Amino acid sequence: MNSHLKNSKLVSALLDWFAANARDLPWRRTRDPYAVWVSEIMLQQTQVKTVIPFWERWMRELPTIEAAAKAPSEKIHKLWEGLGYYTRVRNLQKAAQVIVEKHGGKFPENFDDVLALPGIGRYTAGAICSIAFDQPTPILDGNVIRVLTRIFGIAENPKEKATNARLWNIAEELVQNSKLKIKNSKLCCSHLNQSLMELGALVCTPRNAQCLICPVKKLCVAFKENRMEELPNLGKREAATARRFMAFAIEHAGKFLVRQRPAGVVNAHLWEFPNVEVGIKSGDPQEVFAELDALRFTDRDNAKLKQLCTVKHSITRYRITLEAFLISLNKHPLKIEGVWIAPTKFDSLAFSSAHKKLASAAAKSILSGR
Ligand code: SF4
Repeated sequence: MNSHLKNSKLVSALLDWFAANARDLPWRRTRDPYAVWVSEIMLQQTQVKTVIPFWERWMRELPTIEAAAKAPSEKIHKLWEGLGYYTRVRNLQKAAQVIVEKHGGKFPENFDDVLALPGIGRYTAGAICSIAFDQPTPILDGNVIRVLTRIFGIAENPKEKATNARLWNIAEELVQNSKLKIKNSKLCCSHLNQSLMELGALVCTPRNAQCLICPVKKLCVAFKENRMEELPNLGKREAATARRFMAFAIEHAGKFLVRQRPAGVVNAHLWEFPNVEVGIKSGDPQEVFAELDALRFTDRDNAKLKQLCTVKHSITRYRITLEAFLISLNKHPLKIEGVWIAPTKFDSLAFSSAHKKLASAAAKSILSGR
């Protein structure tokens, strides 16, 4: 079958399947570019079911680009608390400010103007322009790469430049082809893009692809040659690295010491309890605590540590263990970095996910009288 005919059949099968099987997601009920944009940024590295309540709350609290541009930093971080990858929300606000200053508060329709906004790459610009403005702009993310490498039997690593360019070309040909097909119908260019993403999310999954119910199985090289498990060829994965931290919930007169992470580091601007990275196996908590810079000139050497909780989580390739200890100080430390806050006020601050769990354990310990 020549490639033009194959593309044409693929597009028809994908559009028909999407029309009958698309999930009813809240951001699919609108074509407001701002709402689409917020959903696309939240969906990066994050699953749909996690994003839904965050997206709904964001749109309720900051319903316009102007509102997002003007919101205090504490508010946008609080609305993003738990989603992770916080650079996304800071870039989103910077981009909202650019839209207000350069485009009079109206989301730009020109693809290059969209691509020039902070935090927006080719994929996100393509998604917004196709969904909100019905432009035939291609998209290529992890889901689409998986679907296309399987359908076309592409064995080369999609991270390689030439293969990546080839995949973008295929994505572009398909979306252009869909533009011809959807003339005079209620469909729009985004439906082809969204059908590829949806197929990757629901049917052509990383493991145990549901080929037997797949609408494009007759056109799929991987299915014909039983190569689903070997495609896409993503090369060797970077090995996971274990890291261990000790954190201290330091209490004095019913308040806990917390501090805000500085700009330019992971989880910048979020709040946390004083903590230190220690060796995987070494580190006596009492000694680690005694060396904490935040509490110089106190009776810390006599402070008694109690185990509070252990939180395990992952950030990219890091497998992190956070061991937390509770300490009650009788005397107020003379030198501190951070602020003292009552557990009833924890909710007003944006913590990273691990430190939010620690905050909750610290609050419970106070309520239960330890
Ligand atoms: S037939 Fe299987 S491998 Fe091919 S696109 Fe469909 S689900 Fe993916």
